[in-house]
This record gives sequence, structure tokens and C-alpha cells, in this order.
Amino acid sequence: MKYDIIVIGSGPGGYIAAIRASQLGKKVAIIEKYATLGGTCSNVGCIPSKALLDSSHHYYDAVHHFEEHGISIQKPSFDFTKMIERKANVVETTTGGIKYLMDKNDIAVFEGLGSFEDATHIKVSKNDGSSEVIEGTNIIIATGSKPATLPFISIDKERIITSTEALKLPEVPKHLIVIGGGVIGLELGSVYCRLGAEVTVVEYMDKIVPGMDADVSKELQKVFKKQGIKFATSHKVTSVQRDGDTIVVKATDKKDREIEFSGDYCLVAVGRKPYTEGLGLEKAGVKVTERGRIDVNDHLQTNIKNIYAIGDVVKGAMLAHKAEEEGVVVAEYLAGEKPHINYNLIPGIVYTWPEAAAVGKTEEELKEAKIEYKAGKFSMRALGRSRASGDIDGFVKVLADKNTDEILGVHMVGARVADLIMEAAVAMEFRASAEDLARICHGHPTYSEAVKEAAKAAWDGKPLNA
Ligand code: FAD
Repeated sequence: MKYDIIVIGSGPGGYIAAIRASQLGKKVAIIEKYATLGGTCSNVGCIPSKALLDSSHHYYDAVHHFEEHGISIQKPSFDFTKMIERKANVVETTTGGIKYLMDKNDIAVFEGLGSFEDATHIKVSKNDGSSEVIEGTNIIIATGSKPATLPFISIDKERIITSTEALKLPEVPKHLIVIGGGVIGLELGSVYCRLGAEVTVVEYMDKIVPGMDADVSKELQKVFKKQGIKFATSHKVTSVQRDGDTIVVKATDKKDREIEFSGDYCLVAVGRKPYTEGLGLEKAGVKVTERGRIDVNDHLQTNIKNIYAIGDVVKGAMLAHKAEEEGVVVAEYLAGEKPHINYNLIPGIVYTWPEAAAVGKTEEELKEAKIEYKAGKFSMRALGRSRASGDIDGFVKVLADKNTDEILGVHMVGARVADLIMEAAVAMEFRASAEDLARICHGHPTYSEAVKEAAKAAWDGKPLNA
């Protein structure tokens, strides 16, 4: 069978590329090695983690906040098995929805491992041992990523686990040691902390979420500490050993002292690595970088003219929405259009409570690039909306060019900032100034007023409610 485009991998990059290509009149096939579509994001990433974050958030609120709202219920309790079941249902509905979209868009779905025979022929090896070869004029590789580990750690998937197992544990840990204070470690650490586990985050760098603006990491760490999470930053993990049900993590601190942490589960959340195993890239002659990523140019085209790659398997942020945008861009490019993607405006979000979100440059990046900027910051606690809901932690910070007032970066911690950040992204896409944002009438009372106020603070240094 011959297709215009064959997509390998059905994560957010792959399935969106397939839909867009089909919308533009291409004959498309998609290959997925697992029985369900949707990739990491829908099966073991974004969606299940958010389902557990929401369930645990409701429980935490019932225990810690209902009383202040005058609501009393008998001691709240939870059924962890039911929480995991609900999460599984959310995943099932989501992946089922993607199957529906494939059918609706007339996309041929092949279940099996896709591997190159040559630059235009892909072999699909199925679970039952059979295989077939399909032909594509163009190929899009969207094979994603897998959890990374450290060379001396052996993941046993029972007690020394990755995010995949952390989404379906048989019980709430007594003491969960999280190696890595990045987004995934903090989100899953939050889930279990809210459900009563002792949680210790061991981080190599001197701050959590090291890629985010320093003010954001500081505020998050402060709030998480209040919630009960313990942090050991500037700690280099040197060994992880299991003895029965006990996990011992050893690390050295800044002064080179050995520190030992003992728990019943250890989540290794040190990042993810691109996944190209079994793809047979060598048969098509596709080049990978030293770090195992597929090497692509600005059009996401590999060194082989008809082969493209998108998402976690190529350079850039390992995020579902980045993968999706790249899927759209390649599909449109192959249909002869001139698509656009602004890598500076891919939002970064942490879905804890409070949430954290950012777009554009951090203060540290602006300093490093020697760009003159001004900063306006507005505290969430000064908002009527925050006081009404009781979500007073956090802030919005707007960074603008000192001379032109153009917004260069926006950083937020607070309730619903995962959604709020898009106001900043839209403004920046249209190259708005801080004054533009400050002059837009924002609904009252809303959390979004903090964006207006921070923009005003950046523009003229005079927020109205502070
Ligand atoms: P993937 O989603 O990894 O999909 C790749 C697919 O290709 C997989 O289904 C795989 O089975 C298949 N495949 C691989 N090789 C082959 C082959 N040879 N043949 C056939 N099929 C193959 N990102 C966000 O933006 N927001 C979040 O909230 C978020 N939360 C996350 C939480 C967790 C716990 C994790 C682990 C990740 C999270 N991410 C989040 C990251 C997000 O999941 C990834 O960035 C995204 O899934 C990448 O999409 P992709 O299409 O590149 O690859």
C-alpha cells in the first residue's frame, strides 16, 4: 500500500501531524507499537498525571481548606484504588477519542513496531509475529521519548520507579524519595504529598525547576515546603539501593558530606531521553546527534530529504504542545504551505497547586544576553479574586524591554496560571508592549487582573492595587 505520508508514533506530535496532513488532502497512515493511540502524553504523561493531580487536589482541599469556607464534613478519606481507576478511565476516553479522530479523518492505523526498510518503505512488525511493508512518499518520525535514569540506578519498576509506575502504584508510599526537582518530579511528588506521603525531593542543582525564572523556583519551593514537601537541593545522588521494601538513596551535599535518605519508594525523575530503538534509522541513513536526538533542520527535515522528525525525538522542549505545533508545521509544509512556529513562545507549565507558568525569557536569560529590561511584579494576595478563593500564594512578573516596552517574558505562580499564561503568549505573539497589556480592560474580580497590574508595574512602575 502506498501513502503520501507515513507517521511513525501516535503521540501528540504524530497524531496531530496525521490529522493536519489528512485535512490538507494527503493520504496518511500512522503506525503505533502500543495497542492504544496517544503516546506518552495521553497514556502515561500529561493526561493521567493531571487526573491524579486533580483527584488529590480535591482531597487536600477537603482536609485543609473546607473548614475555612465554613464547610464541615466528617474526616475526609479516599479510596486510592478508585482514584487510579478514575485516572485509567480518563486515559481510556482520551485514547479512544484519538482513535475516533483517526477514523473520522480517514487515516489508516497500523498497530506494530515501525522500522525503516529504506527511506520510503516501513515495515510494521505486529505482536502476533506477522509483518507487512508499507510505502510512503514522505515519512514523519514522531517516536517520542522514554524516562532517563542515572547509570548506577537500576529501575525495578516496583519501588525504584519512573513516572510511568508512579501513575499506577498499588498504594500511597509512606516516604517517597523523588530524585529530580523538575516538573514531573514535583507534580507527582505533590500528588503523593497531598495523599499523606512524606515526600523528599533530592535535586542536583541549587534550585527546583532550574530552567524556570529564579523567582518562580523560589516561590514554588516556599509554597511546597508549607505543604510538607522536603527539599535537598545541591545534592548529588551517588547510589540508590533496595533492601526488601526499603530504598536507601545516598547523596553528597555541597560540602561533600554523604547524606542518606531512606524511604519505601524512589521516583527517578531526572528527565527523558529521545526514543529511536528498533526504528532502523541506519537503513534509511537518518542521522542522530550525540545526545541521541534525530538531527533536523529548521523545517524539521532530517538529512534524508523525504524524512521529517518532530516532538520529543528532536531538539527543543519535551512538551506535548511543542510536539503538536511541529506536527502541524510539517504537515502544512508538505502540503506546500508556509507555516510558522515561534519557539520563543512555547509556554512552560507546572500543574501543581499553585500552578506555575512562563513564556518568553527569564530574568537570568535577559541578563546573560545583556538585554536591558524592566520588571513589574504583582502579588496574587493583592487580588480580590485570590482572597475570595483563598489562593493567595504567588505572583505575576512581566519583563519588558527597557527602551521599547515590548514584553520579553512573563512568569507566574498562582491559581489557574496554567490557563492565564496564554494571555501573555498571545500578547507576545503580536509583539505587544507592557503598556498595551496594562491598558486592556480585564474582568473583575479575576486572577487575570494580576497580569494587567504586573504589566502596568513593568510599564510605568505604578500598579493600581499595590
Ligand atoms: P510521545 O508522546 O512519546 O509518543 C511517541 C509514540 O511513538 C509512543 O506512543 C510510542 O509507543 C510510539 N513509538 C515509538 N517508536 C515506535 C516505532 N518504532 N513504531 C511505532 N510506534 C513507535 N507535556 C506537556 O506539554 N504537558 C504536560 O502536562 C506534560 N505532563 C507530563 C507528565 C509526565 C508524567 C510525562 C512523562 C510527560 C509529560 N509531558 C507533558 C511530556 C509529553 O508527554 C511529551 O512531551 C509528549 O508526549 C511528546 O510527544 P511525542 O508525540 O513527541 O511523543
